Amino acid sequence: MLTQPDSLLKYIEDASGLRLPDGHFIDGGFRAPRAGRSMQSEDPGRGEAFADFARGDADDVADAVASSRQAFNTVWLRTPPAERGRILARTADLIRRNTERLAIAECLDSGKPIAEARGDVSGAARTFEYYAGACDKLEGHVFPLPSEYVGYSQFEPVGVTAHIIPWNFPISTAARGMAPALAAGCTVVAKPAEQTPFTGLLLAELLVEAGLPAGVCNVVTGTGIEVGAPLVAHTGIDHVTFTGSVATGTSVMHACAENVTRSVMELGGKSPVVVLNDCDFDSAIANVAGAIFEHAGQICSAGSRLVIEAGIHDRFVEALGKKASSISLGHGLRSPGMGPVNSALQRDKVLGFLDRARERGAEFVCGGHASTDPETGKGYFVEPTIVADRQADDELVQEEIFGPVLTVQKADDAEHALHLANCTRFGLVAGVFTGNFSRAHQLARDVDAGQVYINEYFAGGVEVPFGGNKQSGFGREKGLEGLKSYCKVKSIAARIG
Ligand code: ADP
Repeated sequence: MLTQPDSLLKYIEDASGLRLPDGHFIDGGFRAPRAGRSMQSEDPGRGEAFADFARGDADDVADAVASSRQAFNTVWLRTPPAERGRILARTADLIRRNTERLAIAECLDSGKPIAEARGDVSGAARTFEYYAGACDKLEGHVFPLPSEYVGYSQFEPVGVTAHIIPWNFPISTAARGMAPALAAGCTVVAKPAEQTPFTGLLLAELLVEAGLPAGVCNVVTGTGIEVGAPLVAHTGIDHVTFTGSVATGTSVMHACAENVTRSVMELGGKSPVVVLNDCDFDSAIANVAGAIFEHAGQICSAGSRLVIEAGIHDRFVEALGKKASSISLGHGLRSPGMGPVNSALQRDKVLGFLDRARERGAEFVCGGHASTDPETGKGYFVEPTIVADRQADDELVQEEIFGPVLTVQKADDAEHALHLANCTRFGLVAGVFTGNFSRAHQLARDVDAGQVYINEYFAGGVEVPFGGNKQSGFGREKGLEGLKSYCKVKSIAARIG
């Protein structure tokens, strides 16, 4: 049964009504790629290409960086902070007014259910709103020197910033990098992932509609090798914000090292959700399911390991299995419980993990197979999957799968749960579910993670800094911490008598 009005479903067959751009966004407008090449974006909900976009190269990158440099030196650096804030605030408003177009584009590009896509668009608007208010509040310090001196600091924008965007949260990640960079007075060259090029381009167009001067925000589309690599290696880039895999992040760090370019790295995760015997059972079930099955588990901060105390293990895993098995699959525009994974490649990667686990004798509580949209028999789907208790050294415990696969780890008590929570090379997020206030905060204190969610997974918003420890990366985005990534501190000291 269809649960969406035809007005949305028509886009599954024909996305031309969305008027998706097929050029780069450079110098305030859409521009054909220099080499005249294009590539196609696939709708993972039916496994078919639905729109063409520009396939850029190093020449397009050079144009974009030159444009951003010129705009930085001549316009944006001199734009009063309050005016920057007004432009970002208008952008937030325009994003909200364009929610449906942006959300449908995001849904077709990434596969995520339309409700999740609308949530991402709303989050992007909120991000611009938040940083709009911060532009004119970047205050420095006065240093307590002897009376014959005066010393103070001021924040300066770092300059031209590159943003390498992943395919799981295209508009959210673009907004979370662009908004603080622009707020701090930096200019931007963004490269969306080749699987999801459109909302980054549309965002740049809305920024200009909101009054952003030409060249302050440029977007070049194409592959990681042809556009991403020349962008992060460009000597005109002063800062790189990268979100993606550890392997690609490592290669980006090498490129940054060559030019001594600063960077923020948001890499992988294998985040534990610790559930203790005294939790609120129903709430914990709902949260653990949401933590791994939202966007089919393709979230770096997904709660992909359930660390569960022995006393409720059997009852909890059984109830969770029932809940997971009841999640409906379908094309994102049909408002399913869970959408597809992003590509055939991603599906096969996930299935590879599951096949190897089967060979090692793993027990599946539910799921474990590929699937399709029941309406069409098409698309790249993986069933919501839960794998019963695995040892800490198992591949399913140690490796990021980036799919709807939850691995259970049984803990004897809270202390053992902490030990299991910390047993991987990642340290992005940890969830804690318990009715014991002190125990919750002890775990929050002791777990090695950039952020801890207590009794609600994904709690918080743009106000809360986000980033990883260990191989999950370094630097923080969101919050006022995120703004600092785009600022240089200049200290000034003077002898005054
Ligand atoms: P995945 O392997 O899941 O596609 P990646 O980490 O490779 O994830 O991709 C994240 C982003 O990094 C994408 O925008 C991609 O195009 C880009 N990218 C890939 N390779 C490079 C590279 N060598 N240099 C810069 N960016 C890259």
